[in-house]
Amino acid sequence: MAPKRKRASAKDGDTNFAPKPRKSSPKRAKTVKEEPVPVVEEEDSTIARFLDEPIPELEAKTTWPDRYKPIEVKKPKPPAKRKKKTDDDDEEEEIIRARCHFRRAIVDECQTYELNDDAYVEAGEGKAPFICKIVEMFEGADGKLYFTAQWFYRASDTVIGMHSALINEKRVFFSKDRNTNELGTLLKRLKILMIPLNENTETIDATKSCDYFCDMNYLLPYSTFEALQQDNKMAISESSTISSDTEVNERAAVISGDEEASQATGSKREATMLDLYCGCGAMSTGLCMGAQLAGLNLVTKWAVDMNPHACKSLEHNHPETQVRNMSAEDFLLLLKEWLKLCIHFSLRTCPNSEEYNNLYGMSNVEDNEDESKESDNEDEGKESDNEDNGEVFTVEKIVGISFGDPKKIKERGLYLKVRWQGYKPSDDTWEPIEGLSNCREKIKEFVKRGYKAGILPLQGGVDVICGGPPCQGISGHNRFRNSEEPLDDEKNKQLLVYMNIVEFLKPKYVLMENVVDMLKFAKGYLARYAVGRLIQMNYQSRMGMMAAGAYGLAQFRMRFFLCGALSSETLPQFPLPTHDVVVRGNVPVEFEGNTVAYNVGHTVKLEDKLLLKDVISDLPAIANSEVRDEIPYDKNPETPFQQFIRLRKDEKLGSSKNSKSKKPVLYDHHPLNLNKDDYQRVCSVPKRKGANFRDFPGVVVGPGNVVHMDESRSVYLESGKSLVPYYAVNFVDGTSTKPFGRLWWDETVPTVVTRAEPHNQVIIHPQQDRVLSIRENARLQGFPDDYKLFGPTKQKYIQVGNAVAVPVAKALGYALAMAFQGLTVGDEGDYPLFTLPQGFAHMKP
Ligand code: SAH
Repeated sequence: MAPKRKRASAKDGDTNFAPKPRKSSPKRAKTVKEEPVPVVEEEDSTIARFLDEPIPELEAKTTWPDRYKPIEVKKPKPPAKRKKKTDDDDEEEEIIRARCHFRRAIVDECQTYELNDDAYVEAGEGKAPFICKIVEMFEGADGKLYFTAQWFYRASDTVIGMHSALINEKRVFFSKDRNTNELGTLLKRLKILMIPLNENTETIDATKSCDYFCDMNYLLPYSTFEALQQDNKMAISESSTISSDTEVNERAAVISGDEEASQATGSKREATMLDLYCGCGAMSTGLCMGAQLAGLNLVTKWAVDMNPHACKSLEHNHPETQVRNMSAEDFLLLLKEWLKLCIHFSLRTCPNSEEYNNLYGMSNVEDNEDESKESDNEDEGKESDNEDNGEVFTVEKIVGISFGDPKKIKERGLYLKVRWQGYKPSDDTWEPIEGLSNCREKIKEFVKRGYKAGILPLQGGVDVICGGPPCQGISGHNRFRNSEEPLDDEKNKQLLVYMNIVEFLKPKYVLMENVVDMLKFAKGYLARYAVGRLIQMNYQSRMGMMAAGAYGLAQFRMRFFLCGALSSETLPQFPLPTHDVVVRGNVPVEFEGNTVAYNVGHTVKLEDKLLLKDVISDLPAIANSEVRDEIPYDKNPETPFQQFIRLRKDEKLGSSKNSKSKKPVLYDHHPLNLNKDDYQRVCSVPKRKGANFRDFPGVVVGPGNVVHMDESRSVYLESGKSLVPYYAVNFVDGTSTKPFGRLWWDETVPTVVTRAEPHNQVIIHPQQDRVLSIRENARLQGFPDDYKLFGPTKQKYIQVGNAVAVPVAKALGYALAMAFQGLTVGDEGDYPLFTLPQGFAHMKP
């Protein structure tokens, strides 16, 4: 009997939606909302039938046992007891029972299909067909003929969505999603080449003779792209990340804290990191702390930021880091120039000529080493003399390199810092490289020294790039957002710069942070672009949202994190919360499933969330007028958080030799000094929970919780201004309770921001008449107390408010270091989340 051909369809246009003719859902995934797909009968019938004898019964029953189970007759549950439908219920979906299984079929009497063949499946009129691997073929107990499809996704069906043009159109991604369809929906056999993910895109050439090629799995949970597992690949002989049993044991010893074993195997593994848009360095600080806890000595070797104060803070707290105070755009140009210099002086070989030609044009140093050697000799004696008004200056040595316009003469380019013979370092000057053409030997010396010391990163020398490119073009505060083409907005350009730097340096790992708006704005345009670029560059990738409070802070602060890993590396898992702050599955909005959290209704025992009191109750009382950068502590720590946050670096590392003798001081515990008017307003806010400007005389709360002024009761300040400022009354059309809001001890802060003015946020101390100090904000962000900040007060607040919360970065650093060492955690190695060790928040390396 020939079965009727059935057409299946999926919701189109939804780029986060799997191409599934029939309903299926990945285990534990909560990323998509699916609807049952209608199956439409068509008038014309397709002839489809199986060939050969059925697979022997015993073999079929062993391979697909569920298909042969007797059908249970379930008693319907009384409605009150029926549980809410969850994704997991999908597993309970009725399984089509089989009479027998087959290995081969023929459709329309012309096209044969074998088990494990790839094929097009009907998707509906006018729609591109779905792509699948046939993983099962059987005759149902109902007499119909079926096959089970395991789906491939086109880039446009993945999270990359509208940016699919970034991806080779022959490239598809294999999923774990399967479902059963009628045999007649098969359209055409395909040849899909399963190949290893290789950072070298030349592999594409080898794939011309196929319909598609596939080098990655796409898993809906956390929008994960992962290199194919060994068993998926055909004829691949790739060396594994972990090279030998000894190596595995060594790593395991370090992780398990088995000291003897780890001593026997030598010291910690090392890794280098570049922190882009580093600010004062919170993100990399946390990442390195976490990595240490997982047995990896991750070192921030380079950092870049445009803000000089932020750079100073980073430099002070991280003497091991080469901090560059410049724009990321210039940094990339500098990296290209540096590579050219290294190639020129034969320190590096050029991998391929195209790459060399692509380097930003610089022909300041002659291109041919041999030719220039001759001229060296000719120039000998004359080298490095510069003449200025008759006075001759001689270059003693080159001591620095930069790109931009350090002389502020509106001439951008490559500059070298010159130490002049007979002059002090304070007389060093930046000179354009063109003016130093007769200093070839000096330049060579400098480049050689710099190359050895790694003053700038080069491809192959960077293990991790971290950082969050600022994208002010997506901020909700920006009324002129370009939601059609967000990347055309100059304010979002840094995402391109960031990805271009990744492309140039090809680090093993990328960890990008950003505001959640990156996922929300313009249907997630920028986040999708970022993933698209990573996949285009053959990185594996995973994205999630993490709430800072869930890692032990009295602040909620949800942020977006995107992780990339080269094909040779293990893709990190996201660390599950340690504190009870956030759950997943509450809000059915797009990407909600990417929240790193336990599902609603979980029973895992987490630590209680932290409150303001837990974080700042031990700090000395200060006045609004406090300006001192350093003051003594006057109390002992009162909570485990306070105890931990006071630990200094040397104490954390266990070498507290000198620390006992030095009395620790408290840095940056001073507030934004409010002007007299605002100070008087703050003094008028009662010292109780929930107090704000609404408690001022003359403010009346009317219907709809909207405030207005009763002018007859107005009070005036010494300056003659009204106690109740107009902006407070008008803020959010009179509905806000934020202006001059006082925090209370049992509260958490939504998000520490960069400004400290009390005009439109709740930031007044519970019992003192002032805004939270820089140190209090820093504690809310998890900065250790010994992290000292530099710059004017407002700049310090900016550095703290901009930071990635240190404990979140620490949890991610742990995850990264585990992956770096080839270790995944938990029973399900490929599951995107893992549980941090007990007591992680206050763990010392
Ligand atoms: N990750 C940091 C915070 C970074 S905030 C931390 O955890 O501490 C973003 C930073 O980007 C700011 O410090 C700002 O000065 C810097 N920035 C903005 N535009 C830049 C550009 N074009 N080049 C370099 N830095 C830039």
